[in-house]
Amino acid sequence: MMNMKDKIEKSEDQWKKELTPDQYQVCRMKGTERPFTGEYHKTKDPGVYKCVACGNELFDSDTKFDSGTGWPSFYKPIGAENVETEDDDTYGMVRTEVMCSKCGAHLGHVFPDGPRPTGLRYCINSVSLKLDPKK
Ligand code: FE
Repeated sequence: MMNMKDKIEKSEDQWKKELTPDQYQVCRMKGTERPFTGEYHKTKDPGVYKCVACGNELFDSDTKFDSGTGWPSFYKPIGAENVETEDDDTYGMVRTEVMCSKCGAHLGHVFPDGPRPTGLRYCINSVSLKLDPKK
């Protein structure tokens, strides 16, 4: 389980130094990369997708599916405690935001139109992920 002491807290200045401008825009400013442009939307390589900002394990490639949206999509996180969700009503839409539970990085959104077994679609920005390939 994630303890509060495991949480990573950094100033926005520090994040700005550590992340690329694209990573900062998505992870800290809750931006969205343009569809079909990210590194992982078509990737089928086996491995674990980690948070690009802190290395927290987020999604297993076994749960990745082709949603046709142009963003990497997964039907569940690697563990319920590895991500956090929050209601997001910006841009006139009611959505559920998905964040890294360890550092609070914005990852994307989760929608109730995914495949079995969960029926969920975690729609995640490539730029917030780093694939750790299975050896
Ligand atoms: Fe993180």
